[in-house]
This record gives sequence, structure tokens and C-alpha cells, in this order.
Amino acid sequence: MNKKMLSEKIEAAKEMQKHLMPITPRPEIYFHKGEGHYLYDQTGKAYLDLVQGWAVNTLGHSPTIIQQALLQQSTKLINPGPAFYNLPMLELANTLCQHSVFDQVFFANSGAEANEGAIKLARKWGQKQKQGAYKIITFEKGFHGRTLATMSATGKDSFAPLFEPKVSGFKKVPFNQLEATESAIDSSTVAIMLELVQGEAGVIPADPNFVEGLQQLCKKHNLLLIIDEVQTGIARTGSLFAYQHYNIQPDIMTLGKGLGGGMPISALLTNTQTSCFDYGDQGGTFNGNPVMCAVAQAVLATVLQPNFIPHINTISSYLKHGLDKLSADFSLGEVRGKGLLIALDTNTVSATSIVERAREQGLLLNAPNIQTLRFMPALTITESEIDTAIEQLRHVLTHLKTQRCG
Ligand SMILES: *Cc1c(COP(=O)(O)O)cnc(C)c1O
Repeated sequence: MNKKMLSEKIEAAKEMQKHLMPITPRPEIYFHKGEGHYLYDQTGKAYLDLVQGWAVNTLGHSPTIIQQALLQQSTKLINPGPAFYNLPMLELANTLCQHSVFDQVFFANSGAEANEGAIKLARKWGQKQKQGAYKIITFEKGFHGRTLATMSATGKDSFAPLFEPKVSGFKKVPFNQLEATESAIDSSTVAIMLELVQGEAGVIPADPNFVEGLQQLCKKHNLLLIIDEVQTGIARTGSLFAYQHYNIQPDIMTLGKGLGGGMPISALLTNTQTSCFDYGDQGGTFNGNPVMCAVAQAVLATVLQPNFIPHINTISSYLKHGLDKLSADFSLGEVRGKGLLIALDTNTVSATSIVERAREQGLLLNAPNIQTLRFMPALTITESEIDTAIEQLRHVLTHLKTQRCG
């Protein structure tokens, strides 16, 4: 495309922006190509992408394996409807159960929808098994999605005043505080629901004592333990599921983000004792469609290869080491997280300015809040790409620092 055509295209794109509901500030960039760990904008400028669709593109942008799964499955069958079996749906459910403590899967299309299903399942179980108990304990700063019920379950302060009245029945407790959690339990409590690493809150891991204590509380009070692994699942934290880092056996788990490697599919998993939906209680038009299931199966087949997860742990240490050095050199704060869900506290330097500067330089980062940078690259990222990212960050920080002093 020549320069004139390009600038006309960009002008036209700007004009069309008014037809999109403005739900988030977006930079004036139009990405048109993604390949592995890089995105390319309309001018051909490359961006090393450590956001990857928000911890979604498990294998990077447009991996061949997903292209092939999409092509092969869509040539055969796209959607027979959710009330029929299809083979990819069965194969994927089988794979997920074989590699976890769960026996049954319900497929959905987004993390929020899977969590909505988890909340419904817990309430159904409460009706059948616990005299109508329905309250779910969730945690401050936790994030579970943007449907009305999942926003009600979410512990983000900024959600509190929105869309009132919320769905009732959620009791929020400070994270990592076992005694406060036990005090919040009453006879109508049915479940405890949490993320094992609070992602949107700024990558806050749950303490092992806390998580194992929650499991004990659930046994003692006959409650379900629901783990939201929408962000942590599919090897993001260096084990296939984050609950495997702990000595626990959850009753319900939800998956989303990384499961489809960029395509929309999520899942709700449980065991046979907890699975209690009656016909008609749960469903969804696109749920379990063979195209998304074939894609997720291809993603899992890659992630389950013997060297894949060890690579995540190696590269995780490498990234943490690089960030530790950066933190020491620029007087920044803590580096924390597991696997390839890592945060760096930026202390007095604005994380949002870092994100903007880095983007100008061709590096995409995420700031879950003004003091935290979050790194969630594709699980296939290499050491040399980490080196490039750290170098770019060093450049940005040097620039911001001279600017502050000057
Ligand atoms: C992203 C996320 C969700 C919501 O997933 P959507 O696909 O955006 O609906 C829920 N829980 C956690 C922990 C998440 O990170």
C-alpha cells in the first residue's frame, strides 16, 4: 500500500470510531497483523507484545496450530447446536478431566459466563444439599467478570456503586485472611470463591496456608471451594492449573482466557458429587461448538508436550531476574508472581506512563493499576525476547527518570 492510500485508510478508520461504544480509551493504532510474539500496526511498525490479548494468546499471535485447527474443523462442521454431541467437545472435556481432579465439564464462551455458571451451580447445590444455602464468600480486590452476577462477586472498589441493585448473596472478605473468612461463614453460606493469583488486582498470590486453610473450612462447614482459574489456568502460572501448586482439591474450577489461545471458549469443571444441574438449568447457543473445542484441544496438546511447562518455569526465572535488576537500578519495588503472570511494582514512577512510553517504543505492557506493571507474555516467549523487552524498559525508565529530575 502506498503512503497516500494508507493515510486515506487511517482517516476513514478514524471517522468510523464514532460507531463504536466508547468503553475503554484506545490508542490511535490499528493493528492488522500478529505473528508469534509481535503485533504490527497499519504502518508496519512492530510491537513486542507482553500483553497478548490480556493473558489470552497462550501460544502467541496466529500460531499455525490454531490456524490449522480452525481450517480443518470449519471445513467439516461449524455448529450442529448445543443440544447435540460433537467429537471435539467430547475430546476436549476428556482431556481437561484427565489432567485435573474434575469429572465433568460445561463449556461456555467467556470467563464471566463460566463464573456465572459456577455461581449457579453452587446455588443449585445449596438448594439440593444444604437447605437452600446460597451465600458465596468472595475476596476484596478479586475479579470474576462483567456480567451482573460476576460484577457482584467481584471485590473491585470501583465496581461497588455501579449498576445497582447488584445480585445479592456475596460476602466480601480481605484476601489471605483466614480468620476473617471463617467469621464470615453462616448457615446460609454455600461456597468460597477465589483466584489463586489475583490478576486484575495486580498479581497478588494467595498464601499456601490461607488456601489450604480454606479447604479445611470448606470441609468443616460443608462448603464448596470454587477456584476461578480464568487467568491462572492453562499453564499460565507454571503448572497446568494453579490449584496444583497447593495441597487442595477444589470442587469447582473455571477456565477462560488461555484455553482458546485467543479464540473465545471457557469452561466450568466440577466433580460428580457437586454436578447437580437439572435439564434446562444451564446452556447457551454457542457452547461447546466444535470449532472452538478443536482449537482449545490443539492449544492443550501443545501445552501438554513434555518440555512445554518446564520452559515456562525457566523463562519465568529469567524474566524475574531481569526485572529484579531493573528494580534495583531504578529504585522500583517488588517483583512477584508465578510462571508467566508477573508483576513489578513501580513505586513513585507511574506505571501508566511507562506503558504509554513503552508502546511508543514498540513494547506492549499492561498496568493493572498506577503502581504496577503486569507481564503476561505468550508462554512460548524466548530469553532473547525477554532481553529485548528489558532493554526497552530500561530505555523508557531512563527517559522518565531524567524527565522527572529535569
Ligand atoms: C478475565 C477474567 C475473568 C473474565 O473473563 P471474560 O472472558 O473477560 O469474561 C474472570 N475471572 C478472572 C480471574 C479473569 O482474569
